[in-house]
Amino acid sequence: AQGISGISRDTLMSLYPITATKIYMNLGQPDVIEKYVDLPFDGIGLMRIEFIVSEWIKYHPLYLIKIGKPEEFVNKLADGVARVATAIYPRPVVVRFSDFKTNEYRRLIGGEEFEPEERNPMLGWRGVSRYVSPQYEPAFRLEVRAIRKVREEMGLKNVWVMFPFVRTEWELKKALKIMEEEGLQRSKDFKVWIMAEVPSVIVLADVFAKIIDGFSIGSNDLAQLTLGVDRDSEILGRMGYYDERDPAVLRSMKKLIRIGHKYGATVSICGQAPSVYPEVAEFLVRAGIDSISVNPDAVISTRRNVASIEQKIMLEKLRK
Ligand code: PEP
Ligand code: MG
Repeated sequence: AQGISGISRDTLMSLYPITATKIYMNLGQPDVIEKYVDLPFDGIGLMRIEFIVSEWIKYHPLYLIKIGKPEEFVNKLADGVARVATAIYPRPVVVRFSDFKTNEYRRLIGGEEFEPEERNPMLGWRGVSRYVSPQYEPAFRLEVRAIRKVREEMGLKNVWVMFPFVRTEWELKKALKIMEEEGLQRSKDFKVWIMAEVPSVIVLADVFAKIIDGFSIGSNDLAQLTLGVDRDSEILGRMGYYDERDPAVLRSMKKLIRIGHKYGATVSICGQAPSVYPEVAEFLVRAGIDSISVNPDAVISTRRNVASIEQKIMLEKLRK
């Protein structure tokens, strides 16, 4: 495969150090992938779809269903995902199902009719709780159909999925069943990840590991919920309460890596922590994390940082 520079991908990759830990990239806007395709990433560890929904589709999916145009949603979402999956094939793209909060869904055209006003949307009707609710389930099915279209009709088997804001095993099982009803089943080439953002996922890591392929730590939300600190609170932020380096957050992440691996699931991270704090990257690499997914501007620095951490670990082992 050749990127925009016309230089082969192997040549480009040879300019950067090889790492045992995979370096993935986070992406929200499909149309910028061509600009970043030559960066040394091993896949997209978090593809957010909220931009596609708010900027390309613009309509609330339930409104489109109501006016008889559900395929508008399916086709545009499929196009966005396919654009990224094609550009980076055969590297994987982990597409996260929608993670808007109610206040954000309300802003889509036709959204007010379907979205309750919540006092605390951050802890409200978001993530999997939407997909399994009678109100949103038909829209979740459209999200799944878009993924199936990309995988089955367009043949882009490098597309995997990720569930955000998982809270309980029962809701996840219900969502997995809906996905199966729509023709998408976990398999060797179709991996299903969940985000570890709510502490319950870490407390019950063994239970979750048995029904999915991988976890991805959402350190932004995990720090917020482990520490009970609103990540948007300015005053708490200024006082230093919102800190992904807090020992409670670090210990949670380490525990997830250990238990996840024990029960056969991979563990990744897609929150900001390892790119903001190189010492968090070091902590995670030492704990054995499988991959680290960072924003495009941090791909090169993270790869270099991880390579030197891995080298340091190897040298320490040799000297022992
Ligand atoms: C996270 O919570 O760390 C995450 C990556 O998700 P978002 O920032 O989109 O909530
Ligand atoms: Mg999150």
